[in-house]
Amino acid sequence: MPAPLPSLIDAHGRAIRYLRISVTDRCDLRCRYCMSEAMTFLPRHALLQLEEIAVIAERFIARGVTKIRLSGGEPLVRRDVGELVRRLGGHLGAGLDELTLTTNATKLADHAANLHAAGVRRVNVSLDSLDPDRFRFITRHGDLTQVLGGIAAAAAAGLAVKINTVALAGLNEDELPALLDWCVSQGHDLSLIETMPLGAIDEDRVDRFVPLTRVFERLSASHELVRDAHRTGGPARYWRVAGTGTRLGLISPLTANFCDGCNRVRLTTDGKLYACLGHDDQVDLKAALREGGLPALDAAIDEALRIKPARHAFVIGRGTAPAVTRHMSVTGG
Ligand code: SAM
Ligand code: SF4
Repeated sequence: MPAPLPSLIDAHGRAIRYLRISVTDRCDLRCRYCMSEAMTFLPRHALLQLEEIAVIAERFIARGVTKIRLSGGEPLVRRDVGELVRRLGGHLGAGLDELTLTTNATKLADHAANLHAAGVRRVNVSLDSLDPDRFRFITRHGDLTQVLGGIAAAAAAGLAVKINTVALAGLNEDELPALLDWCVSQGHDLSLIETMPLGAIDEDRVDRFVPLTRVFERLSASHELVRDAHRTGGPARYWRVAGTGTRLGLISPLTANFCDGCNRVRLTTDGKLYACLGHDDQVDLKAALREGGLPALDAAIDEALRIKPARHAFVIGRGTAPAVTRHMSVTGG
């Protein structure tokens, strides 16, 4: 019998159980805090092929990863994403506990039933405003009706929906209590996110940055929030909206460091494995796989575990350069 593969423990003793895969850096929207208007995307020849993504993901499952999230860019703009979901879904219950997706929902109505059929049970949907004009402004050209239709289709297909909202001063901060009410009325969870300094955009993030401590104070005045012990090994801290099924998560990398319990690594669409969202260090899994097959892939994964830093390096301040030069869309949020 072959020896079991070594499990994924980093140099700080953290077990890695969660792989996020950015299946494309492209997107049909241009959210102001995420991308610049004139983004340059990776050339198609640089991307991992579907088979390579699947082989890498399967190696991670064999080495102990139990949760995979597909993200991007917008994962549903990649043409063969359905095939990838079906293939990875085949590992559910056989090593993989959860396969999930983060999406802007513009194309979710077309995919919801197939995602559910492949074993996906939860999706995260980005939604930064319920006002059509604001939504269009923030995303630069998104159509709110289309996105709400995608969310409704997901719920109808049996997918639990968690809404992700980046808190933005002067854009949606005043709307967050109403957004929470909407989530309660629809039975969705809500996670609020502090804007993070990833990649150059067309504005200074300081102008939009809202500490979630401030948001929390405001929400506590309008809603009874009860601390919830729920942990995902992720960055969020959770509360329950009393008397409802809705959980509120706060993702505050700038005002509350979450790195001690980090259980994740991130694969980009061109095959780089980033051991931390907040650092530029990475290993090239595509080169390793193409040049040396599975043994080289394992060695490259081990190297990423060796260099995984203890903490992210985010700071936000007027005139400070982004902590990392790549955008969130490259490492998949
Ligand atoms: N396109 C999909 C979406 O929007 O859900 C998936 C990719 S997107 C990069 C994943 C998440 O990252 C979204 O919730 C988005 O709001 C968030 N995000 C993007 N750029 C961010 C930034 N600079 N700081 C904080 N969150 C960001
Ligand atoms: Fe696209 Fe998501 Fe970035 Fe918005 S946050 S531009 S939807 S990748």
